[in-house]
Amino acid sequence: MKKSINVGVISLGCPKNLVDTELLLGKLNASEAKLVNNLDEADVILINTCGFIDAAKEESINTILEAANLKEIDPNKKIVVTGCLVERYKNELEKEIPEVDMFIDLKEELKIPEKLGLKPKLEGSIYQNRILTTPKHTAYLKISEGCDHTCAFCAIPKIRGKHRSRTIESIIDEAKLLADQGVKELNIVSQDTSFYGTDIYGKPMLWELINQLEKIEGIKWIRLYYLYPTTVNEDFIKKMADSEKVVKYFEMPIQHSEDKILKDMMRGYRKKRIEEILNWKEKYIPEAAIRTAVIVGFPTETEKDFEALKEFIKDAKFDWLGVFTYSHEEGTPAYEKFEDIVSQEEKIRRKNEILSIQEKITEEKNRQLIGKEMEILVDGFSEEWDTLPIGRTYRSAYEIDGITYIETTEPVKVGEFVKGKIKDVVDVSDTVAEVE
Ligand code: SF4
Repeated sequence: MKKSINVGVISLGCPKNLVDTELLLGKLNASEAKLVNNLDEADVILINTCGFIDAAKEESINTILEAANLKEIDPNKKIVVTGCLVERYKNELEKEIPEVDMFIDLKEELKIPEKLGLKPKLEGSIYQNRILTTPKHTAYLKISEGCDHTCAFCAIPKIRGKHRSRTIESIIDEAKLLADQGVKELNIVSQDTSFYGTDIYGKPMLWELINQLEKIEGIKWIRLYYLYPTTVNEDFIKKMADSEKVVKYFEMPIQHSEDKILKDMMRGYRKKRIEEILNWKEKYIPEAAIRTAVIVGFPTETEKDFEALKEFIKDAKFDWLGVFTYSHEEGTPAYEKFEDIVSQEEKIRRKNEILSIQEKITEEKNRQLIGKEMEILVDGFSEEWDTLPIGRTYRSAYEIDGITYIETTEPVKVGEFVKGKIKDVVDVSDTVAEVE
């Protein structure tokens, strides 16, 4: 392989995967590789895949096949594939897609530059070299890897292994580096954020970690993703209420509301727990926004269970909600125990019904903001009108929830916080704010 090579990188899947990609980009950048966006110019196309559910697997495979098409035009191109899909299906992929030059396991992922014959010269730790792909004021901070739960539908523990927390020191060091680079919002990600620390410190240590993160100058917002209902207790909600920097927002997938389904899903809580959390939230932080996710079409979900889920969602009034159709994944407890009996058509019908209920709730919640003055973090400019700034209030996570269009006659800078009065709601989830 020639000395300087152009590498084009595609990252699929969740923010946790994106963090891995960003570390890899840093290592590539510290070697003789040149990172390119245009894949036509790439000598090597590197794809970090997702293999969580059917739709993600399909997207990953299509992306690999598109790269294989480019290789047909230029046979000198190399294709390297890593990530969760490879971890699950390496043998099959090797047989089915021979155009790929290397399939790399997760544990070898960060050694890809060396496997390409490159010699990275890292200055400092791997985190010091990380290249952010998000706007420079917001970054994901991965605090642990893997998951100890055994949710019946989920392949993650098989792919990513048991929960392994990073030490507080290591995370704080990285957070300081990010703050020095201009990051103002830390997005805390993992498979099970509220469980953080239990494996290495013997008890959940998320708030001890947050106490230290809050002391870092420059960090203004800390946003929590992937809380698991069993470890979100009253004390947790009180701490969130008292925190100066943790935004009043949390992502906590409930997956279902009905006890029978939660039991079959092997989730470690029941409906009562979700209701308790919603009550604590109302008591201590009524303004907090919650994002949740549910799965429809689980094998034991009857029409009656589905109707009950709909009623629950109507009452609970989550701010944001995602719906997944059940995906029958090999190697999961549900795959062993149940037949995938709900048809795809029926799953989609259930998904659409929930989405239409949620749309009304999300819009109503956004309308309640009209007239309120809110702090907005400016993320960039609208794709349609590139002079129109866009941003987010505390209620929205980057690239996940609704955005806020900022109407102003004064120039605003990307990465700065501005105060604006909400004056309208557009397309259900977006708002318009006037900044004077
Ligand atoms: S908590 Fe459950 S759904 Fe989430 S990653 Fe762990 S096993 Fe999967």
